[in-house]
Amino acid sequence: MKRNDAFGTRELPEELQESLQDVYVDDLLVTLKYFVDENQPHLWIEDQDICARCQHKPCLYFCPVNVYSLAYDGTIQVSYQACVECGSCRVACPYTNIGWVLPRGGYGVAYKFG
Ligand code: SF4
Ligand code: SF4
Repeated sequence: MKRNDAFGTRELPEELQESLQDVYVDDLLVTLKYFVDENQPHLWIEDQDICARCQHKPCLYFCPVNVYSLAYDGTIQVSYQACVECGSCRVACPYTNIGWVLPRGGYGVAYKFG
């Protein structure tokens, strides 16, 4: 999937679309290494009742790797193992209802640069 598609850039003016480079998220993700802490999730929902009342549920859209999903029972599920630690959910949940800490030392995502 192209990141530009995911962010709906096809709705942007044509001249702006042409100035954007295509970025393939999947190509970038395969360069990452994950050290998953199975014993201590670093992300969690503080209160599912607040999520139930959250009309637009923006967490289903702002996470670049789809960590948040809506379960059949209407609760928000958190696949913290896939988190790339971009920090968006610290500011984008309108009810600050997402608990977020950095993974413990030795765990989390490792980026390869260059
Ligand atoms: S945006 Fe926040 S409050 Fe709304 S559903 Fe997602 S986690 Fe819950
Ligand atoms: S920090 Fe970024 S990648 Fe991780 S769950 Fe939040 S929005 Fe998704």
